[in-house]
Amino acid sequence: MALSETPRFSDITTIAVGGRIARFVEPTTRAAFLEAVIMADTTGKPLCVIGGGSNMLVSDDDFDGVVIRDARREISVLDEVTPVEEGADPSVTISATAGVHWDDFVAYCVRMGLAGVEALSGIPGTVGASVVQNIGAYGQEVASTVSSVEVWDREERTVKTLKSDELQFSYRDSLLKRSMYTNGAHSAPSRYFPSPRYIVLEVTFTLKHATHNTVNMTQLARALNVTVGQDFEIGEIRRAVLDIRAGKGMVEDEHRYMNHWMKDTVVSSEIYDTMSLEDEDRNRYSCGSFFMNPILSQEVADTLPQDAPRFDAELPDGSKGIKTSAAWLIDHAGFKPGYKIDESSRAGLSTKHTLSLTNRGDARAVDIIELARVIRDGVRQTYGVTLVPEPVFIGVEL
Ligand SMILES: Cc1cc2nc3c(=O)[nH]c(=O)nc-3n(C[C@H](O)[C@H](O)[C@H](O)COP(=O)(O)OP(=O)(O)OC[C@H]3O[C@@H](n4cnc5c(N)ncnc54)[C@H](O)[C@@H]3O)c2cc1C
Repeated sequence: MALSETPRFSDITTIAVGGRIARFVEPTTRAAFLEAVIMADTTGKPLCVIGGGSNMLVSDDDFDGVVIRDARREISVLDEVTPVEEGADPSVTISATAGVHWDDFVAYCVRMGLAGVEALSGIPGTVGASVVQNIGAYGQEVASTVSSVEVWDREERTVKTLKSDELQFSYRDSLLKRSMYTNGAHSAPSRYFPSPRYIVLEVTFTLKHATHNTVNMTQLARALNVTVGQDFEIGEIRRAVLDIRAGKGMVEDEHRYMNHWMKDTVVSSEIYDTMSLEDEDRNRYSCGSFFMNPILSQEVADTLPQDAPRFDAELPDGSKGIKTSAAWLIDHAGFKPGYKIDESSRAGLSTKHTLSLTNRGDARAVDIIELARVIRDGVRQTYGVTLVPEPVFIGVEL
């Protein structure tokens, strides 16, 4: 395929940055998906399996490799979804192919009266990538509802079913994500990079047939006028989450779906109720949270100011750690919402909060990286904590 017949990464990523793709394939069947992956691996060229492109920052240079985007959008309910009798097991098993738009999946579950993912409403991307980085928000994490993931193992060249306890889920991490690197996120790339050793074909979830679910996060509880730990109707939880996210610019921009390369990748998402076509919001041109919340040893956490947020967490070696807030560190190191290196910069922090680095218009990967460096270095100088980015970096380095 000639370069002009393929998209640029800037056409298919939420931050709208990145160079031309040499080969772009959109398989519509399981067999075609597998064949595309096997073919790509045989050529020895880099393989990037992309979903919604909402967790990657790609170089402006041409990408001399294969990009595969699963065009299958199938959701199957494996158990009967009927109201359960008092005392009966309310579990329902539901599967979705990797290419299903994540918020289409959440909307479907809520409509069917299936609880467990409603607080993850409005997260951009696909079902396939949701398990790569164990998405989480507003008191829920996808790990708690995933029962198994069907993958293509590029090492053993076979299809496998990985059970939840084999996936080694932790905060924004999993066995799948770790297989892209030699020693944890953003260390030297493994030979599978920029995609995992395990390509997700389908995810099976165990949800609960229930009209209500527990509200687990203060900000959400406040929006619903309840206290943390109380139950609330799942449709209302979804609506409240979408409203909070829209208020922070933490949903995708609708304009990206007008682009030829993005049409038809979403089915029925209600996230667009929260958008206005006239009013393009540059705060939405991001990779979401750019830096992960650091998990520190007690010793390092003790050096932070008294008012820095602190939550119990686990360090990678399983010992007790303290999670603090990347947004707080960035803000208190002097980088306020809307911060730019200089007025004419094409990259800047979101004007609504300090979590997202955003493309203010025509930004290139180098502009985003330059901003990220200034922020990372500023936080390190002020607090001695080195922030680790959340998105996958392709052809760029911090
Ligand atoms: C506005 C905004 C808000 C966000 N909010 C949140 C949030 O609240 N919580 C949160 O956790 N994240 C959030 N994110 C990050 C992002 O949405 C998630 O990480 C999402 O799961 C990425 O999905 P994707 O399909 O876009 O992945 P992509 O960016 O397309 O890919 C990311 C990685 O996953 C790999 N991958 C994709 N598909 C497959 C597959 N089928 N098999 C194997 N590997 C695959 C890719 O190769 C790549 O390495 C946000 C992002 C944005 C832009």
